[in-house]
Amino acid sequence: MTPSTHTVAGHWIGGETVTGSAGTLPVVNPATGEVVAETPAGTAADVDRAVAAARAAFPAWSATTPQHRADVLRRLGAGLAARTEEIAQAITAEMGSPIGMSRTAQVAFPAAVLESIAGLADDFAWTEEVGNSLIVREPIGVVGAITPWNYPLHQVMAKLAPALAAGCTVVLKPSELTPLTAYLLFDAVTEAGLPPGVLNLVSGTGPVVGEALAGHPDVDLVSFTGSTATGARIMRLAADRIARVALELGGKSANVILPDADLATAVKVGVGNALLNSGQTCTAWTRMLVHRDRYDEALHLIATAVAGYRLGDPFDPATRLGPLVSAAQAQRVRGHIDRAVADGARLVAGGPDAPVPARGHFVAPTVFADVHPDSALAQEEVFGPVLAVIPFADTDEAVAIANNSKYGLAGAVWSADTDAALAVARRLRTGAVDINGAPFNPLAPFGGYKQSGLGRELGVHGLAEFCELKAIQR
Ligand code: NAD
Repeated sequence: MTPSTHTVAGHWIGGETVTGSAGTLPVVNPATGEVVAETPAGTAADVDRAVAAARAAFPAWSATTPQHRADVLRRLGAGLAARTEEIAQAITAEMGSPIGMSRTAQVAFPAAVLESIAGLADDFAWTEEVGNSLIVREPIGVVGAITPWNYPLHQVMAKLAPALAAGCTVVLKPSELTPLTAYLLFDAVTEAGLPPGVLNLVSGTGPVVGEALAGHPDVDLVSFTGSTATGARIMRLAADRIARVALELGGKSANVILPDADLATAVKVGVGNALLNSGQTCTAWTRMLVHRDRYDEALHLIATAVAGYRLGDPFDPATRLGPLVSAAQAQRVRGHIDRAVADGARLVAGGPDAPVPARGHFVAPTVFADVHPDSALAQEEVFGPVLAVIPFADTDEAVAIANNSKYGLAGAVWSADTDAALAVARRLRTGAVDINGAPFNPLAPFGGYKQSGLGRELGVHGLAEFCELKAIQR
């Protein structure tokens, strides 16, 4: 079950390895193009079997106490901690994030999410009294979890931890680009003492395994993270049986820098946020909105900051930017860059001719200034290391530009006046806003307005997504 064996034996169903019958899918190191492993190409029959195992395990697991489930989650956390280095190496090999970032953001952060969800077991409102009613929160049932490749462990953990804490059973389909991380996690699952069938893993592609899971009549909730287009498809697949969906989708977040901000810090943090994970982050602040009075100064600071990002081998600790996840993703991102040039945006750094390593799917960090707020670069999610800088004349215009998006996932505001920043934050139509680089809070609800999604992950709000509500009148 580990990437050290070149071919992963099978799916993980009902507590056993189930050999795949439909061939394998290659896992490719995007920095070299080499195949690092093969995983089974699952089928609809594999999904049927996994859903049946999850359904069979549901009555007993849902009847355990929240404290028992929290104990299991903590044991899972210990198993993860023991595998930090192995998982970090696997993530760098399968999706190319720099090794230092794999150890911290990619592994340590989901471990903290797991711990935080386990800690909610005692305080969560499993029951409430409202007048003559007893309100009971019960596990929703069998969850189909479908996850992307950009933060392979975090995206899985943000679903598994609350699903298990709530008393649900799960069938996971990780991204076919990054399945090795999920297999390593499942080694720890067995050790944590989860009964067979509570967690199941079917490896395979979206069109085959993902569609079979999202459309399965015995899946009660489809919890999906990925692109908005796939999210819409999942909703349609779930609609015929009125199944619940929870969707974490794309973004085009605005970083609003007001004229009194500490510009050097705002630009440094803003560029770092946009380039994190080579821009493959759904919450990335990919539109930097700067007041006209400080625009030229900001562009100079941006160019200096971007020059400090070294592109290269993600296993080299000095590398700050690795490759994009695949040849197709790199090609898509280059297409966005070419289109921005054609649309008349001004190149400040990087661009189509900037040097990149000869081997691997690298794209140079690229910044465009004078980006029109309606242009494709300001409207479409690039999911690569590309920043659009847009000037504004006053706060109303900044808010209008920030909200001129079909997405509404995240954003940022910078100002010396925190009340003014808070007033702007409240006007942004997004699920999250960070003021002056405030730290991420794993207990805060995470999710989007508009086409960025439905529902919330993390903390008590994330746990509630995996519960049904029952009102008992007395
Ligand atoms: P994707 O939508 O192509 O794939 C995501 C998952 O869905 C994968 O496991 C894939 O196999 C599966 N899938 C693909 N087609 C499917 C189908 N027809 N039916 C069922 N499942 C299907 O997205 P991606 O390219 O893996 O990830 C990048 C996208 O994810 C970006 O748009 C990004 O913004 C978004 N994302 C959002 C969040 C968030 O929390 N909001 C987090 C990370 C990524």
